[in-house]
Amino acid sequence: MNTTDCLFCRIVAGEIPATVVRETRTTLAFRDIGPKAPVHVLVIPKEHYADVATLAEGDPGLAGEVLATAAAVAEEEGLLGDGFRLLFNTGAYGGQEVFHVHAHLLGGAPLGPMLAGNLS
Ligand code: 5GP
Ligand code: ZN
Repeated sequence: MNTTDCLFCRIVAGEIPATVVRETRTTLAFRDIGPKAPVHVLVIPKEHYADVATLAEGDPGLAGEVLATAAAVAEEEGLLGDGFRLLFNTGAYGGQEVFHVHAHLLGGAPLGPMLAGNLS
């Protein structure tokens, strides 16, 4: 994909505004535009990878940096005591809508069951 066509690459480039809560040399964390919980932060690598599988295969160290940034934001947002959820929607069944890998960091209230329903 041409990264100029990627929404999150454009946020990294500063072409689209976002509420950034943490930035490292390789990662960016910013608030989700449609929060699903009191705290809803997206954590991305600045480099474009389509999804978590591609990232883990292509640069496992960078995948670890995404997790470390997510953990640092969880601490800054005061989520470590009561807990939080970190998830990567991936592909069609996972409901992924933006194809630049992002971890959803969710917390600030009880988050309910992991899935909406019983799929079995
Ligand atoms: P996905 O469904 O791909 O896992 O999640 C994409 C997320 O990106 C959604 O939660 C959506 O609210 C968020 N999002 C979509 N467009 C924007 C935007 O322009 N800015 C921000 N901050 N979040 C966005
Ligand atoms: Zn991108």
